[in-house]
Amino acid sequence: MDPIITPPVHPDPQTMNRRHITDYAHGITAIDAGYERPGLVAIHLIFERGRAAIVDTGTMHSVDGVMAVLATKDIAPHDVDYVILTHVHLDHAGGAGALMQRLPQARAVVHPRGARHLSDPTQLLAGVTAVYGAHETMRRFGQIVPVPTERIIEAPDGLRLDLHGRELLFLDTPGHARHHICMFDRASSAFFTGDTFGLSYREFDTDRGEFVFPTTTPVQFDPLALHASIDRLIGMNPIQMFLTHYGRVGNPGRLAGDLHESIDAFTALALQAAGSGPDRHRLIREGLQQLLLERLARHGCRLDRARVLELMEMDIELNTQGLEVWLDHRRTH
Ligand SMILES: [Zn+2]
Repeated sequence: MDPIITPPVHPDPQTMNRRHITDYAHGITAIDAGYERPGLVAIHLIFERGRAAIVDTGTMHSVDGVMAVLATKDIAPHDVDYVILTHVHLDHAGGAGALMQRLPQARAVVHPRGARHLSDPTQLLAGVTAVYGAHETMRRFGQIVPVPTERIIEAPDGLRLDLHGRELLFLDTPGHARHHICMFDRASSAFFTGDTFGLSYREFDTDRGEFVFPTTTPVQFDPLALHASIDRLIGMNPIQMFLTHYGRVGNPGRLAGDLHESIDAFTALALQAAGSGPDRHRLIREGLQQLLLERLARHGCRLDRARVLELMEMDIELNTQGLEVWLDHRRTH
């Protein structure tokens, strides 16, 4: 199903205007990747006087939708210069190879540690298949098409690229993954943060603004590195952030404070459960659930508990698994 032109099945004022594409200032658009549910994974498009860049790609299933949006905006396939991948987790970069087959001029931009996984996704795919199984991996991500090495630009910390006169600056931002980059776009004073600046679903917006929480998914969550990366982003004084999950958030300073607090609360909770043997997973999971429900209530969120948990179920499970990996890693080092 085409995620872009399919009308909402159950129109919901919280999401209906944001299901497919959201246009922002400075030529920035969020395209819904159509991954799992609307409003979960955003593919960002940056347009600068005839040239374009795409930040994160969703999966192979997202490619037709992206091409359809480019067409409606009169952006030809050869007008796209860059496919920027914040990191190579498959909800962000799984569709990169398939998308680039349709964009003849585009080069992929990725952390030096991520580059080999783009040109040879075997190891990445094996890891994901071990978690989800072959059938579910195919359903979620489709085929993973390799990106030819000569079409990859490795982005070390401080790299600057030019999008038709618009400077794009890349920072090395570990914490969620060791191969994570964030991109600063000076024209919009915005960072494109992948997963480094957490997750913020538009359904949780209230009159107090956005609600954000960190992602600690397996297998490279590193709280100290994540704290430092968030501080580095804020050190550039951005006025807004574009998150893959999902879209634009303002007020980065307040949100950074919330993220720092939540990272500490998550790790404290994991440490508390560390000695609980077979109950550990359940205790961390229930603790995260409780913590997030309390924080959302304080934020003024009026969604009922069932809806909140429906929106967060997958993140709570993945965050639990990631915290467990972090605990085990600490124990053996
Ligand atoms: Zn992600």
